[in-house]
Amino acid sequence: MEEKLVEEVLPRLYRVSVPLPGSPLKSVNSYVIKGEDRNLIIDTGMNRPECKEVLLEALKQLDIDPEITDLFITHVHADHLGLVHEVASLHSYIYFNLPDMELARGDIWKRLGRVAAKGGFPVETLRRALERHPGNRYSPSSGVEFTYLVEGNMLEAGGYSLQCLETPGHTPGSICLYEADHQFIITGDHVLGDITPNISAWLDGFNSLKHYFSSLDKIYNLPVRLVLPGHRSLFTDLKKRIKELKEHHARRLEEVREILEGEEMDAYQVASFMSWDIDAVSWNEFPVAQQWFAAGEALAHLKYMEENGEVESRESGEKILYRLGG
Ligand SMILES: [Zn+2]
Repeated sequence: MEEKLVEEVLPRLYRVSVPLPGSPLKSVNSYVIKGEDRNLIIDTGMNRPECKEVLLEALKQLDIDPEITDLFITHVHADHLGLVHEVASLHSYIYFNLPDMELARGDIWKRLGRVAAKGGFPVETLRRALERHPGNRYSPSSGVEFTYLVEGNMLEAGGYSLQCLETPGHTPGSICLYEADHQFIITGDHVLGDITPNISAWLDGFNSLKHYFSSLDKIYNLPVRLVLPGHRSLFTDLKKRIKELKEHHARRLEEVREILEGEEMDAYQVASFMSWDIDAVSWNEFPVAQQWFAAGEALAHLKYMEENGEVESRESGEKILYRLGG
């Protein structure tokens, strides 16, 4: 499916499809709103030449002057945040959220590494996974200053009034932008149409799946006629998609229950028995990055079940082992 570089999806609101070579996501949607006074760009692409070239060319085609352009980043992932410093000028506001910022700060990779090792991720594979993790390779290169937004904050651009809705789950600080008059929502990776957002639990103490479910419920009843997601196609039926995503995770929880029947194992092992929509013959052939996302997803479901009292865990050596409880 050939996609145009720039597509006007609503009056003065454009989608730029920024390619992500080698990623199963294929591309990321950057949305550009041309305003009378100021422009707003929502999400950017990874900090790598293939993304930069396309985004900058699109902005040129749209005649976007960086001096009067602000940015909003839906969440911390490198495919959304990576190019902020390339697009922003000294006069740009870069809107972001604090919970995700805390993530990007400090020794995040060490923290992730510790949790992953406990989850049973083999040490050598882990080292490679962290090295190759896009968050490690394609994040913004220089420090940029953010303006933090919270629930209810409004952004105005191109005649649109965009309301911030905190939707933690995919990341702790993920924010959707809702336009009530025109009934559209920009969802980042909270709700995607063609693929299932990755819900990982690499952070200690963050029950991502539980947050994710309530963040889906939170936007379910909004009057929405068009969804502008962070990846792939735009779509219209938000309610239907939310139902599908909830069913997907219900099936996943059921799958984990079956895998743990009479067994005790770590999250990495659980992931190896789950079904994944990836082009690989066996778990061992999965690219390391995909193993990382899969094991993180398994861990999210295990943590959710543990907090519900369905699963019990215990430390065994370096690892945490899970079994059905109750
Ligand atoms: Zn993401």
